[in-house]
Amino acid sequence: MSASNVCANASCPKGDSSTTNLLLCSRCRKARYCSQDCQAASWPSHKQDCRRQNYIIKVQLFPGKITDPEVVRTISCPAEASFWDLHVVLQLAFGWTGTHAYDFAVMDPDFRVSADPLQDLLRMTASGPPRITADMPREYELRLVDPTFPPNRRAIDRMHEWQRKHPRMVEKQADQWALWKVFDSAKYRGKQVIYMYDFGDKWEHYLTVEGRADVTDRFVCLSGTGHPVAEDVGSVNGWKELKEAYRTSRPSQEQRDRRKWYENMASNGDPEGLAGDRINFWDMERVNRHLKIIFPNVHV
Ligand SMILES: [Zn+2]
Ligand SMILES: [Zn+2]
Repeated sequence: MSASNVCANASCPKGDSSTTNLLLCSRCRKARYCSQDCQAASWPSHKQDCRRQNYIIKVQLFPGKITDPEVVRTISCPAEASFWDLHVVLQLAFGWTGTHAYDFAVMDPDFRVSADPLQDLLRMTASGPPRITADMPREYELRLVDPTFPPNRRAIDRMHEWQRKHPRMVEKQADQWALWKVFDSAKYRGKQVIYMYDFGDKWEHYLTVEGRADVTDRFVCLSGTGHPVAEDVGSVNGWKELKEAYRTSRPSQEQRDRRKWYENMASNGDPEGLAGDRINFWDMERVNRHLKIIFPNVHV
């Protein structure tokens, strides 16, 4: 790699003299050129090592709603990996069990809640199966869906899926879309991306690109806070109530039942419960070990 103030085109007419205001290759963000002509001349040789840098993505589960502790994971993600890959990683990092449907969506910044939600609901459900019509507010510009439609998808997910659709929204398969197609796209840049898991509890994970990092072939979890949240607990309020059942010194019968359910029956329950500092426990080393097994070499 050339010095940062010398054009990376080997046959640059300016030779090795330094130049200010070099153009940065928008793909790898490493190679620099004194002109577009130099960039074009250099491309045939540069393209072999021009790779998009990883994204450092901070993923927050219901930011502002799930607190004390927040449940956050920050992950270095290969730009060429697909959203299906990212789904697998998020399942692992957040301790979910993959028993519900999911999608990724790019939010429409112009979305406003309908002025008359009751009227809309009546129209949506007036005849035939419920559906959103083109004239209603559009929440998402793009939705990336599960390519497999797993046969074990629960009735609760099927029942709610129509709410995720809109006639003016683009829908693609998650395994066909690389991360860079959203995060490097001028069309979607700056728009909020979410990952929703379980269309019943509607666990919304907010994705924010915090920076770039050197290319790796696999995902790496870098940091995070908060014990994984209980699946099928009843969304934000159910999680709050479960934590409360562990914080109280005098649990009611109902609270004791909640603990028992979580420790013995929940699909991602923790037999050690959530009392005391356990609520902050999650094992990043274990997540990273599993990531190595699942992605021996992703999309090189
Ligand atoms: Zn040049
Ligand atoms: Zn490049």
